[in-house]
Amino acid sequence: MNRRDFLKVAGSGALIATTSGAAEARGNLPVPDNAVGMLYDSTLCIGCRACVYKCKEVNDMPNVVRDGEVQWDQAEELSGDTLNIIKAYKQGTGETKNSAVDGFAFIKRNCMHCVDAGCVSVCPVSAMQKDPETGIVSHNPDACIGCRYCVAACPYNVPKYEYDEAFGQIQKCQLCNQKGVERINKGLNPGCVEVCPTGANIFGTREELLQEAKRRLALKPGEDYTYPLERVGSTYGHVKAAPDYTQHIFGEHEGGGTQVMVIAGMEHTKLGLPDLPERSYASVSETVQHTIYGGMLAPAGLLAGLLYFARRSCKETDKEGEDEV
Ligand code: SF4
Ligand code: SF4
Ligand code: SF4
Repeated sequence: MNRRDFLKVAGSGALIATTSGAAEARGNLPVPDNAVGMLYDSTLCIGCRACVYKCKEVNDMPNVVRDGEVQWDQAEELSGDTLNIIKAYKQGTGETKNSAVDGFAFIKRNCMHCVDAGCVSVCPVSAMQKDPETGIVSHNPDACIGCRYCVAACPYNVPKYEYDEAFGQIQKCQLCNQKGVERINKGLNPGCVEVCPTGANIFGTREELLQEAKRRLALKPGEDYTYPLERVGSTYGHVKAAPDYTQHIFGEHEGGGTQVMVIAGMEHTKLGLPDLPERSYASVSETVQHTIYGGMLAPAGLLAGLLYFARRSCKETDKEGEDEV
């Protein structure tokens, strides 16, 4: 069985379960009590990419080098050695910051640390885990079997497989708290937050970030506001006239909510963020799984075994890009 056939079989099983009407629905998982995350305010971002550079340094990942020189603008897409990128929106003349028409804006892309994470839900060997306290979604390379189910299950196209490595692994932002880094455990801020010169990206508990986002959205355009650096309530900040915010906090509800949230001066879809229902994909897929495998032994083990053989059988021909997995 090659991988495409395997996915077809898995897909038909899901369809049968969905249409049978016998599914026992589970709701979205709740936000962990001490959930932490980041708030990215696109209107403050100047596209300097200091966060991209710092992310590579903290995570010991190679810089993009062209003609023997490290490139400050770095990579354009997330990859096995790039966990954080800044992308730009531009329309028409591209003259006005935060304007959807004849304007431009920036968007930071990295793992959203979903409240009810699809990558965690589908991982057959629990290599992807969500910390019950902080809600940080981390990846354990020692447990990972390389099935790349997490790649397919992420609505934000975040986990990336190291195709260039002989023993490739999945890579994604772990909020700078994985073994050997552990900035959050040490009371430090994530690397990308520490270097952000404008406070476009700040760290904190999800709750305080949500309250901060709501305060900003309530500002009148032009009203002075003290924007903190690094954390809500930080003694460092700068006063700036508020922009005309779009009245939407991306991640408050999308896909069951995320711990990395975004506010902006235009619709999130213009910045490449997906339109997602409030119900998480994980809650839907687990409902389907429980319907198919209810009463059977060790469904996760069975899935892991199937994935192992699917992976092995397609190893020789598996040269396609991550998006096709
Ligand atoms: S954004 Fe993707 S990789 Fe990150 S927690 Fe959500 S599903 Fe997992
Ligand atoms: S939290 Fe750490 S790993 Fe994640 S984007 Fe920021 S610097 Fe990179
Ligand atoms: S460091 Fe801050 S201002 Fe600079 S690109 Fe990153 S988020 Fe934007």
